[in-house]
Amino acid sequence: MIHTEILATGDELRSGALVDTNSAWLSSRLEESGLAVRRHICVGDALSDLTAALAEMSSRAEVVLVTGGLGPTPDDLSAQAAAKLLDTELELCAEALEQVKAFFRSIGRDMPESNRRQAMLPRGAQMLPNPLGTAPGFSCVCTGCVLYFLPGVPQEMRRMYTQTVQPDLVRRFRNRLEPNSTRTLSAFGISESGAASALQDLGRKFPDLTLGFRVHFPEVQIKLTARGNSRDVHPLLDRAAAWVQARIGEYIFSATGQPIARVVEDLLRSRSSTLAVAESCTGGLISHWLTEIPGSSDIFALSAVTYANEAKTRILGVAEETLQRHGAVSEEVAREMARGVRLAGRAGLGLATTGIAGPAGGSEAKPVGTVCIGLSDQERTIARRFQFSYPSREANKKMFAMAALDLLRRRLTAGQENVNA
Ligand code: ATP
Ligand code: MG
Repeated sequence: MIHTEILATGDELRSGALVDTNSAWLSSRLEESGLAVRRHICVGDALSDLTAALAEMSSRAEVVLVTGGLGPTPDDLSAQAAAKLLDTELELCAEALEQVKAFFRSIGRDMPESNRRQAMLPRGAQMLPNPLGTAPGFSCVCTGCVLYFLPGVPQEMRRMYTQTVQPDLVRRFRNRLEPNSTRTLSAFGISESGAASALQDLGRKFPDLTLGFRVHFPEVQIKLTARGNSRDVHPLLDRAAAWVQARIGEYIFSATGQPIARVVEDLLRSRSSTLAVAESCTGGLISHWLTEIPGSSDIFALSAVTYANEAKTRILGVAEETLQRHGAVSEEVAREMARGVRLAGRAGLGLATTGIAGPAGGSEAKPVGTVCIGLSDQERTIARRFQFSYPSREANKKMFAMAALDLLRRRLTAGQENVNA
């Protein structure tokens, strides 16, 4: 295994003002490629901390990736720290200077003198191009460890990694990479522990696989991992995924890591149907999720956020009497909302939510976390009531929106054995 470590630099990361997403992103890519990430380290902008971290990490690891500190300001010290580690000087790298100048040319400006600093690389370092920003990266080798220095700006870092670092790692370590193959199944309506206990025999059935769970609220992701990516690993993953489907298939909405909105849209498209949504407690969240998917206009007809009772009546045609007799949060109102929005949107299906997201507004009969979801098509109109018990308004809204889309998914796949997503 290729021992790999990641160093994130910057006072804003060390102090907690900014969350380090670079290391997480790099870790996933490196693990996919078959390197073993053993440590993440974070230091601020003090040169002594940077050099100490680099010395320590390069003495342990075969590969070190550093992000941040390549900019033109005095707190950008990564190149200086690398020079100290290599016991050498910074020198002007003509190729790097040309890339910084070219960047400024491309945005129609002259290079400020301060940016010349960014072309000062440790002697002997290899420049790594940055197509999206000013700061060139670089790589160097220190006593058997290869170090890559990447920008802190996530977009620039990602592009540099994908374009230059990843291919370089493959070239260097070709025969020793041990990539993983994974399969991710996304479930809703079952808890992490519920899924774990339903799948507890997986280890015995498939000893060459590891099973992992990750809560990506409100989804639970079930991850099957096999070492190696040879052709025989894929049938094994297929068999294990089918085994999982046989046990908890009703909760699984995607076998390819797609969000539920995408799954529902694909189902609607394959049935040449369209959807209209009436949202009360979810405040447009369902519509937002649906319209985040490119091409949603094929299937998405209308969205109405009808918060006030009067709007439910005037826009969706919910009867005043229904509201008075059963209250806005009721299966009766959810049904009338779903039917009303379907007709208003001239859509194949209507979906509606009405509930209590909290923190106030609950009662004994209808506590915070109650949601009624209506679903209507030409043949029938149904409603379901769910009771969740999440502490925050935000969590309840997400749960309600997810439950609504899942109810729709179940309707669209009724009679089908497993997800075909
Ligand atoms: P610049 O040329 O912008 O100075 P740089 O390579 O010097 O780039 P930093 O100054 O360390 O990088 O970071 C630039 C910005 O990138 C930070 O303000 C922050 O928004 C973001 N950033 C840096 N490191 C990380 C990280 N580990 N995770 C997420 N964002 C980061
Ligand atoms: Mg900077």
